[in-house]
Amino acid sequence: MSDYPHLLEPLDFGHTKLRNRVVMGSMHVKLEDRASDIKKLAAYFATRAKGGAGLIVTGGYSPNRRGWLLPFAGEMVSGRDARRHQTVTSAVHAEDGKIALQILHAGRYSYHPFSLSASSSKSPITPFSAKGMSARTVEKTVQDFADAAVLAREAGYDAVEIMGSEGYLINQFLAPRTNKRDDDWGGSPENRRRFPTEIIKAVREKVGEDFLVIYRISALDLVDDGQTIDEILALADEIEQAGASMLTTGIGWHEARVPTIVTSVPRAAFIEQTATIRQVVDIPVVASNRINMPEQAEQLLADGKADLVQMARPFLADPEWVNKAAAGKPQLINTCIACNQACLDHTFKNKRATCLVNPRAAYETELILAPTDAPRRIAVVGAGPAGLACSTGLAERGHDVTLYEASDQIGGQFNLARRIPGKEEFDETIRYFDALLDEVGVERRFGTRATAEQLKTEGFDSVVVATGVEGRTPAIPGVDHAKVRSYTEAIEDPSGNGKTVAVIGAGGIGFDVSELLTNEESPTLDLTAWKQEWGVAPEQETRGGIVEPKVPPSPRKVVLLQRKDESLGRGLGKTSGWVHRAVLQKKQVEMIKGARYDKIDDAGLHISLGKEHDESRTIDADTIVLCAGQESVRSLYDELVAAGVDAHLIGGADVAAEVDAKRAIRQGTELAATL
Ligand code: NAP
Ligand code: SF4
Repeated sequence: MSDYPHLLEPLDFGHTKLRNRVVMGSMHVKLEDRASDIKKLAAYFATRAKGGAGLIVTGGYSPNRRGWLLPFAGEMVSGRDARRHQTVTSAVHAEDGKIALQILHAGRYSYHPFSLSASSSKSPITPFSAKGMSARTVEKTVQDFADAAVLAREAGYDAVEIMGSEGYLINQFLAPRTNKRDDDWGGSPENRRRFPTEIIKAVREKVGEDFLVIYRISALDLVDDGQTIDEILALADEIEQAGASMLTTGIGWHEARVPTIVTSVPRAAFIEQTATIRQVVDIPVVASNRINMPEQAEQLLADGKADLVQMARPFLADPEWVNKAAAGKPQLINTCIACNQACLDHTFKNKRATCLVNPRAAYETELILAPTDAPRRIAVVGAGPAGLACSTGLAERGHDVTLYEASDQIGGQFNLARRIPGKEEFDETIRYFDALLDEVGVERRFGTRATAEQLKTEGFDSVVVATGVEGRTPAIPGVDHAKVRSYTEAIEDPSGNGKTVAVIGAGGIGFDVSELLTNEESPTLDLTAWKQEWGVAPEQETRGGIVEPKVPPSPRKVVLLQRKDESLGRGLGKTSGWVHRAVLQKKQVEMIKGARYDKIDDAGLHISLGKEHDESRTIDADTIVLCAGQESVRSLYDELVAAGVDAHLIGGADVAAEVDAKRAIRQGTELAATL
């Protein structure tokens, strides 16, 4: 008997059957657009099909040129496109998988000057203004969706997903925010719904009855002048009547100022929206957003909240997610921690997406942990992200690996990150590596600081040094004052932080520490509190589902400082930085740029401001936390090299500046693949 009977139950549509209830949701990885990347894309999807996904949905392909996301973005408009995609569909079918092509018209989210929308408008997140479509163009676009679906079928796809959420073109027709038309395609709610219902009818008519047609419905817009819940439910019903086989759900427009997928969003935060839609239709409804582990997914299905679950990023993090759940080994799932650092942040910078915790994602043909034919004895020193990735990768390849760690626990800097409100997911990465070390047979030698002499005496063939970083102590007069704390002290012992705190350094850690200081409790752990803080209407009772946020006051006054004369937080992630900045603004953290730190004494932190640093100010802080970057801890490496040992340096011990877990894990994995 499986632990996840609902999750693993097949779903029979008559003409086709999904092997379980787990959908890999659509996500662009930037392998979609260039024809030359098609083999890499096929390997990426085939790996997920092999890992057990019940249905895979591709990134969005436009049904015509005006709908491109970017100039020359992926499209499905010709027989040539369809033939090229056969490489993808046959690779997935060879692994017994099923795959849907997502058809997406970007509307005013197009990043090119020829964009179109329901009415003329400009989105707040793109530089180009969109032109309103003529009625003829609307009709032609409906047909383009249907033609793209036929081509998808010819390409061997098992389904199409019509993208109607996240604020793209169809969503733009649905909401009065963007649909100002007074013809048959606008005005009344019925007219606004005509565009998607006509698309589904046209698609169904052209592909026939024996083909899956999925519609991704915006279950909650989270923007002013979005849809009402009644309009959304009426749409769900009409889409079913028009011939859709299944509804997947999307939450929030891209321009919404409510986070919907970052790590601080509570797990399954929007499940009630799916449950409400499920009550009005007979076709299966798929839940999405911040679902990442099987136990929770199983519970949602068992509770009747949804018929299937959809996850996108969790399949980047672990292509074997379903197989591991089915084998009763959820502890071995490499959980997506919703950091966005290597996936969406890359996509938005037009770079290939991968995954912070799994750098092999979207690099299946390039970064391979192949079994070694020359097993060696290798020591890895340091059990932070770099050392964990390297030691487990080496052991997976068949090397005999011993992992040394001075403390008694694994995780390194992740042990600090997981204590920050909203970063609880980092616990999962520690749990995963803890289980994996045992699974692949890495020997642990913990609670002892390995010396060069000891490692040499042990006779290892190679030693990998991953001894990480330590916080920088800036040369400020008085920095040894009793009120000064390192970020490690501030995070590990929050009770020692005073009522007025100055945070020196506004990088990722300065922001993290400020979030810790301004929150008594983590709002992520309480859905009601989180919704209040971000202004999500409890019962979707307003248009768009948003209300005025209510933010609990910070228990202390916090001043966050940096020397650079630029806005604070500019270096944070593209898709998550705005959330961190918004959190601190809501908590009334004072942000000071262009500061010069003059001294620290009983009165507090003395700084100078202004272009010439001729304005003095004293921040009467009772605690000053140093978040001034890192320095490498690498003396062991130098000693090993001097002793003639084959030594390798990775992670923060190699490069401390801007060190992050993404680079550390990637570097550890790359070394593991080649040693
Ligand atoms: P960081 O991002 O490099 O920031 C260091 C901060 O210290 C900067 O604000 C810098 O600003 C200041 N600083 C540098 N040298 C200084 C000195 N001598 N005296 C005073 N101030 C100094 O490093 P971090 O905050 O330690 O974070 C480490 C890594 O972890 C980052 O790469 C980050 O990506 C990652 N991380 C990310 C997040 C996130 O995205 N939420 C959270 C945690 C960690 P000025 O030079 O302008 O003063
Ligand atoms: Fe998840 Fe972060 Fe990996 Fe993206 S980079 S898939 S958010 S763990």
